Amino acid sequence: MPKPSSAHIEALFPTLVYRTVIEGAGRLNHDLEQAALALAENDTAGRRWCEKHGYSGYTSYGSLADLPDRSPLFARLKRGIERHAARFAKELHWDLRGGKPVCDTMWVNVLPEGGSHSSHIHTNAVLSGTYYVTSPEGSGPIVFEDPRHGLMMAAPPRKAQTPRPLRTYVSETPVPGSLILWESWLRHEVPLNRARAERISVSFNLVIG
Ligand code: FE
Repeated sequence: MPKPSSAHIEALFPTLVYRTVIEGAGRLNHDLEQAALALAENDTAGRRWCEKHGYSGYTSYGSLADLPDRSPLFARLKRGIERHAARFAKELHWDLRGGKPVCDTMWVNVLPEGGSHSSHIHTNAVLSGTYYVTSPEGSGPIVFEDPRHGLMMAAPPRKAQTPRPLRTYVSETPVPGSLILWESWLRHEVPLNRARAERISVSFNLVIG
């Protein structure tokens, strides 16, 4: 039956993901790479945490809660993240009542070949995100999952060539300097790094402060 001319399909309840690439980030990325590798070598508490929790590679997630206080480099990154988060909050039409998104947690990830990070959400936060310092060819995307997936008990699967906004899983392949922000409840995962090199990134959470 042909669609009546008065029919209208509206996209409701969109899930917004904020993406940008920081221009001229070469020097910043070089310095962040050195800093991340130094942490991976020297942070023995962090390395113990990774071993205990089966994290391949290194993350400072379980050991260092004060990166921006330790180094002006991370403080600069924090300021940049908060500027972009403020823009994102505006696009989300949040009524912040005088507050603003504040980055309260930041951690470094050094993900080697064969490393991955299974599906998860970020608790105790409103916005989360990742800044990519290095992203070697083949190190793979970050994959976001439709937050309504668990409700789709009888829904047919989507076709292979489904347009991006209607897909159940959406991949985003970062480049060095990519900054991606999302609402913290959005489930995501990092599939296997198939590159012969480490991918270095900085992840973070923001609260309303
Ligand atoms: Fe995450």
